[in-house]
Amino acid sequence: PVAKKPGKVAIIGAGPAGLACAHDLRLMGHQVTIYESSTVAGGMMRLGIPEYRLPREVLQAEIEFIRWLGVDIRYGCKVGRDIDFEELCRTHDAVFIGTGCGRGRRPPVEGGDLEGVLDAVHFLAAVNIGESVEIGQHVVTVGGGNVAFDVARTARRFGGTSTPDEPHHNLVVDAAVVAGRLLHKQVTLLALESEEEMPADPEEIVEASQERVVVQHRRAIKEIRGKNGRVESVITLDVARVFDEQGRFAPEMIPGTEREVPCDSVIFATGQIADLSYLGENSGIKLSPRHTVEVDRTTLATSRKGVYAGGDTAFGPRIVIEAVADGRRAARSIDTQLTGRNDEPVEHLLYRFQAHGYDHPFARGDYELLDRGRVPMVEGEERLTFRAVEIGYDEGQARREGARCLHCWINTEFDSLLIEGSQCIQCRGCVDVCPEGCIDLLDMTRVSMVPTAKSTELQTLISGAGVALIKDETRCIRCGLCARRCPVNCIRMEGFYRTDEFPLLNLADHVV
Ligand SMILES: Cc1cc2nc3c(=O)[nH]c(=O)nc-3n(C[C@H](O)[C@H](O)[C@H](O)COP(=O)(O)OP(=O)(O)OC[C@H]3O[C@@H](n4cnc5c(N)ncnc54)[C@H](O)[C@@H]3O)c2cc1C
Ligand code: SF4
Ligand code: SF4
Repeated sequence: PVAKKPGKVAIIGAGPAGLACAHDLRLMGHQVTIYESSTVAGGMMRLGIPEYRLPREVLQAEIEFIRWLGVDIRYGCKVGRDIDFEELCRTHDAVFIGTGCGRGRRPPVEGGDLEGVLDAVHFLAAVNIGESVEIGQHVVTVGGGNVAFDVARTARRFGGTSTPDEPHHNLVVDAAVVAGRLLHKQVTLLALESEEEMPADPEEIVEASQERVVVQHRRAIKEIRGKNGRVESVITLDVARVFDEQGRFAPEMIPGTEREVPCDSVIFATGQIADLSYLGENSGIKLSPRHTVEVDRTTLATSRKGVYAGGDTAFGPRIVIEAVADGRRAARSIDTQLTGRNDEPVEHLLYRFQAHGYDHPFARGDYELLDRGRVPMVEGEERLTFRAVEIGYDEGQARREGARCLHCWINTEFDSLLIEGSQCIQCRGCVDVCPEGCIDLLDMTRVSMVPTAKSTELQTLISGAGVALIKDETRCIRCGLCARRCPVNCIRMEGFYRTDEFPLLNLADHVV
């Protein structure tokens, strides 16, 4: 509900954390201003994730909606340069920090200051907003995580120099196609890890190699060599191991295994760190040893009253959805601070209905046959453009994928009489038929539980004689086989939905 007395909130950074926080606070009726240093909103969704993986029109539509709600975004306004952090705190009732981890971190390597050495974060940001950036014909990227792959794949697409005064997309697409087909730009990715050890998603590795990015595993960069102040090659060392016996990151190089890789650009994708210099010395905001803002994990409040933080700034580099969740959580805490409203989760009413003739893929018998379908991709040279790589399912494919749905809103319901043991004949049919092994029948002497205020009735039953039917909810795939098997019908499959979510919809009509 809309707050009776709206507050005034400043949000620093228009990344997913800041945007999500602004969205929710605005819906709660507060006045929200986002201060964003870049000329665009979206944070790393716009500046980091390449366009071929996240189409910009999708992102832009979301941002436009948030602006339409009445959120004011001040572009090109860097806190610490254009406006003081203390002033924001003075002029607003609450402040949310969502400035991410936008500074590249690289290992100290000889030659790191030569012309042609770049940070991944800066390289991608420049390409993504069409700023001028020069890369040579042979690019070496260093790192093994997804950022390294984004850099390597973007470098393949990026045909040379883009300038801000020309239409970015056409220039880059044209230049990339020309460079890819005619100039055969070479990209070599140096990774400390073997293929199995790499933290990058396996799909990213496969896709990058399809785009002729050459990955050299178990190689560390020792030195960058140059001529006339420009990069000419990198010297690598073989890596004996990356992790020690305890699984900790402790790379060990093999001396005497130097190899030279000729190149004219080196892009480091070896880590990101938060730039919190705008906080100054006496902000009263505690930082962690990892140089992130320390927060209460439940409320996301910092050590300074009225200031909250979330996303990568508070937890280090993570993923978009976690930043969004943080933004939403902080919005609730800020609303509670401003209005005194209780933030207790509400108990939702559940509507239950019986799922007759339940058509689960497992019960149908094709659960194992229907493999997860890969999303169709753009093939060949067309991939070396900035358009989205995933094309999406056609209707037939989408229906086939939909048929694999595990129907998690349907669950087993055990007849109440079962608890008294009056119907279950302990045939163990459900135990035998369950494909996930999540049901068991145990003698009461083998059952115990931690007592709670709500469990007194169950506690009494457990302390008596008899047999308990136990089900592990975390493994159940809702196939309904136990309900079909039970000879005395004491297991039913029932659907549930929250009445506040679909007040007008009777899902029972949709169950076959
Ligand atoms: C190359 C790359 C690829 C990625 N790929 C994926 C992916 O595929 N899937 C996924 O889920 N996640 C991915 N991530 C991670 C994801 O993008 C981040 O976890 C997420 O964007 C963090 O959100 P945030 O809001 O905390 O910060 P950010 O997205 O970093 O946003 C911070 C914002 O604050 C602004 N800012 C910084 N300092 C100031 C200041 N002083 N004043 C005003 N504004 C400031 C910045 O300009 C930026 O807009 C990727 C990250 C990178 C770098
Ligand atoms: S519905 Fe759950 S408990 Fe029943 S057989 Fe299937 S997986 Fe096992
Ligand atoms: S199939 Fe039915 S009767 Fe048999 S053990 Fe399971 S619940 Fe009891």
